Amino acid sequence: GCPVGCWFCIVPKLEGKTFTLIPDFPVRPVLCDNNLSALPAEFQDHIIGRYRAAGVPLMDANSGFEPRTFDDEVFARWSTINVGPWRFAYDDQ
Ligand code: SF4
Repeated sequence: GCPVGCWFCIVPKLEGKTFTLIPDFPVRPVLCDNNLSALPAEFQDHIIGRYRAAGVPLMDANSGFEPRTFDDEVFARWSTINVGPWRFAYDDQ
């Protein structure tokens, strides 16, 4: 899910407005998530730690980051593993 609620987006209607955190997700070069930058900082660190531990390159963080929550801290955090494009949500900002 996603708590933001952009008026045009199907995610909150389909998947709810709260995040479902999946700590044991499979670590793969394509990471799919509705809104990585709005996840709790500790969980973002958990995801990044799992990529580092597995030695798997993050080629595509999809559907990526959201302008409201993408700040210097988020950029610094994900810069350590993201070798692909910086995808930003098509949200209302
Ligand atoms: S467009 Fe992105 S930020 Fe907006 S509600 Fe959908 S998933 Fe959330």
